[in-house]
Amino acid sequence: NAKPLEGKVGLVFGVANKRSIAWAIAQAWAEAGAKLIFNYQGERLKDNVEELAGTFGSDTPLFPCDVTKDEEVDTFFNKVSEITPKVDLLLHSIAFAPKEALEGDFINTSREAYATAHNISAYSLVHLARKSAPLMTDGGSIIAMSYYGAEKVVPHYNVMGVAKASLEASTRYLAYDLGKKKIRVNCISAGPVNTLAARGIAGFGAMLKHYDAHAPIGRSCEPSELGATGVFLASDGAASITGQVLYVDGGYQIMGM
Ligand code: NAD
Repeated sequence: NAKPLEGKVGLVFGVANKRSIAWAIAQAWAEAGAKLIFNYQGERLKDNVEELAGTFGSDTPLFPCDVTKDEEVDTFFNKVSEITPKVDLLLHSIAFAPKEALEGDFINTSREAYATAHNISAYSLVHLARKSAPLMTDGGSIIAMSYYGAEKVVPHYNVMGVAKASLEASTRYLAYDLGKKKIRVNCISAGPVNTLAARGIAGFGAMLKHYDAHAPIGRSCEPSELGATGVFLASDGAASITGQVLYVDGGYQIMGM
C-alpha cells in the first residue's frame, strides 16, 4: 500500500520548529496519507507551527495546548471533536525539565524540578491518551518519544531519565487499559538528534560522537528514520505491537561496552 495511513486522522503534539522530532514524524504521517491536527505550546511558537503545518494546506488545523493547563487540553480536544468525528493517531513528542536539573548531580534535583519534569514529560501522555481514547472509535495508535536514559544512567540526563522511565511504564499501563479498544500505545526510543530540547542537555555533542563511535550502525538516527518508524507503528502492520519500546538508535542499546 503506497499510502498506509490514508483515511486516518492524527494529532501531533510537540512541533516547535523544523528540527523537532514531531515535525519529522508529522511529515512522514502526512506523506503516508494521514490528515493532521497540530498543537502549539503558547503564542511564541504559533507562527513556527502555522508555517510548517501550512505546508500540508493552509487549512491544516492547529490549536494552542500547553499540557500543564487542563483548560487548554480540554479546549484543544473540544475543537478537535468539532472538526472530526474520529481520531486514529496520537503523537506525544513533548518533554521538559528545568535547566538547573540537567546540570550537576541528580541527587540535587529539587522537588519542584522533579515534579515539573514528570508532569510535562510523563503525566501528559496519560492525560492526552485519556482525552484521545473516546475519539479513537475505530482503534488507534499512540506513540511517545523516549530515550535510553530511561533504563541506564546517562550523565547529565538526570531527572529526564527518571521521567522517561515513568513515560515507558505509563506506556505499558496505558497499553493494558486501551488494548480492549484496539488502541495501541508504544514508545520510540530515539538515539540523540540535534533539536532544541537536545541542546538543553550538557555534553550533547559528546553524546552524538559516542554513538558514532559505539553504535553497531556507526551513528545515531536520522529524523526521517524516526518518521518511517512512526508510520510503521501507526499502520496496520503493527496491529499486534503494543506496550513496547522500539529503539531507533543505530543499535546502541544492545551494547555492553
Ligand atoms: P523539541 O524541542 O523540538 O520538542 C519538544 C517539544 O516539547 C516542543 O515542541 C515543546 O513545545 C514541547 N513542550 C514542552 N513543554 C510543553 C508543555 N508544557 N506543553 C506542551 N508542549 C510542551 O525537541 P525534540 O528533541 O524534538 O523532543 C521531542 C521528544 O523527543 C521529547 O520527548 C524528547 O525527550 C524526545 N527525544 C529526543 C531526543 C533527542 O536527542 N532530540 C532523543 C530521544 C527522545
